Amino acid sequence: MKTLGRFGKFGGCYVSELLIPVLAEVEQAFLQYKDEPDFQKELCTMLKEFAGRPTPITEMKNLSNAFGCRVVLKREDLLHGGAHKTNNVLGQALLAKRMRKTELIAETGAGQHGVATAMAGALFGIPTRIFMGAKDIARQHPNVQRMKLFGAEVISVDSGSQSLKDAINDALRYWTAHSKETYYVFGTVAGPHPFPSLVAHFQRVIGDEARAQCLERYGKLPHTICACVGGGSNAIGIFKAFIEDRAVRLVGVEPAGEGIETNKHGAALGMGRPGSLHGSYSYCLQDEDGQILEAHSISAGLDYPGVGPEHSYLKDMERAQYVSITDQEAVAAFLLLTKKEGIIPALEPSHAIAAAQKLASTMKKDDILLINLSGRGDKDIDHVLHYLEHQDV
Ligand SMILES: *Cc1c(COP(=O)(O)O)cnc(C)c1O
Repeated sequence: MKTLGRFGKFGGCYVSELLIPVLAEVEQAFLQYKDEPDFQKELCTMLKEFAGRPTPITEMKNLSNAFGCRVVLKREDLLHGGAHKTNNVLGQALLAKRMRKTELIAETGAGQHGVATAMAGALFGIPTRIFMGAKDIARQHPNVQRMKLFGAEVISVDSGSQSLKDAINDALRYWTAHSKETYYVFGTVAGPHPFPSLVAHFQRVIGDEARAQCLERYGKLPHTICACVGGGSNAIGIFKAFIEDRAVRLVGVEPAGEGIETNKHGAALGMGRPGSLHGSYSYCLQDEDGQILEAHSISAGLDYPGVGPEHSYLKDMERAQYVSITDQEAVAAFLLLTKKEGIIPALEPSHAIAAAQKLASTMKKDDILLINLSGRGDKDIDHVLHYLEHQDV
């Protein structure tokens, strides 16, 4: 492969020999098409006319008063599909079309990336198979129905813990056997090279827009940017445009679940160690023997025991800092935005809002605190109400 996909010592491509040429083919196509005017034009038109880009930035008056600085949201919740995932699946589906692939596959945990890929499959007219853990199929019924409505086939994964980690393994195995006709739409900036770079490329539109929008509206850059980190794609998407702006503080927010001191959290960067997971060397949650541990979070989208290698690099370089927020704090932030601003956020970016509230204490009134609102919260309403019923607060 042309580049090794390294971010310092992190990243790489630790997969079976059979997958190396398959990934090399994706890398080669990506390098060939990403800057090609026809490809860019077609993607741009879809992002604008199908997905609704650019998404606005919105200043939150009530939160600004409460936090003591200018709180500004990047509104990926307004994107078609309800989250930033649409940026990635449109880019990869277009790449698959250029590569003349006749089938899309994807892994999914809670079902959000499966739904997004099934949507792209419907739009492009490419048959789609989604690999999903048997346990997840049972507990995420509405998303299974959405995928089926889009015409996708949902494959039940019965191995291991029957969840996301195993769905990725099965999808990679299937891809190895069907690589001639199949394109694997990977869901985040993790996994083997070239996915961390490729997904970051399709998500960086978030930060490119937000940077221009801040300069136009305020004549300056944000003081701090906050984004939640599951695999890390919405965070990398907004961080990328600001990495060279050394004065801008970048903060990634991981799920502390039931508490960072318990075993029930998903803070791969905060509590994990570097190791190998799904073909990439990066921080991940593991026991003393290097066995990968399960992640826990109230938000299904942050429930991943690993993290994209570029985040590991940004952490070790101290260019970004990573904090964690508990389930309880995230739910409080969910309610705060809903009640104070009339916006129901997804539980994932509710973690970023909760962290932003803590970080605001060091900021001045005119400083801009930019939060990536990665998705809307309709999917989480039942879950939050159930959580509140079983809390003594
Ligand atoms: C999937 C999802 C996430 C987590 O994925 P990243 O790759 O870390 O961005 C965050 N927010 C929302 C709304 C999601 O759907």
